[in-house]
Amino acid sequence: MRSLSKLPEPGILAENHVAWLQEYLQDLSSDAKRTRYRHPDIKSTLKLETHEKCVYCESRIGHNTPGDIEHKIPSSKDRTKHFIWSNLTIACGECNRRKNSYYQEHDGFLDPYTDDVEQYLDFEGPVVTSKPGEVRGEVFVATLELCSANRLSLVTQKIAKINELRHILERYNSADPGPLKEVLKRQLIEMSRPGGEYSAMVRSAVRAKGYAELVE
Ligand SMILES: [Zn+2]
Repeated sequence: MRSLSKLPEPGILAENHVAWLQEYLQDLSSDAKRTRYRHPDIKSTLKLETHEKCVYCESRIGHNTPGDIEHKIPSSKDRTKHFIWSNLTIACGECNRRKNSYYQEHDGFLDPYTDDVEQYLDFEGPVVTSKPGEVRGEVFVATLELCSANRLSLVTQKIAKINELRHILERYNSADPGPLKEVLKRQLIEMSRPGGEYSAMVRSAVRAKGYAELVE
């Protein structure tokens, strides 16, 4: 998870969220009225602001991992936030299903738009752990099972990313100053930027290897 900034609200939502909520509340059994937040303009803006990644585990949203629109405050707890832009984001199915209706009024679920994520979490190889004493970090990791064999597919993908990173770092380290070293440097910087898949893990690993100059 990386800290994120909210993009401006899409026009379709700004113009319709009041009416959409009213119509939804009057007909709770209607799937069509409930899921109007799936409008392509809304989903594409959410994908843009999350760099097309799950907001929680940083898996790339794509054909194999279609993203679900996620309500940070679940609608089951507060229906009035069902179409509120600041309450919408995007998560992979695995994280979305695990977070489900988790909600705490105080000390709520870690929010990458408002919380400084690195204050709560450590990225140690393919697993995420909470920093000592950070209960919100602990709740986040436990709820999403980010440090669990139940997320085998996620952990496997992250190990593949670490192996790719290790290979590039070794090539960077052994390359003589010149064009190849510059290309590898740019590649490493790109991998640790917010748009890179599992970039929080990559950034942490690059720093741990002593290449702090390669992360932004
Ligand atoms: Zn996820």
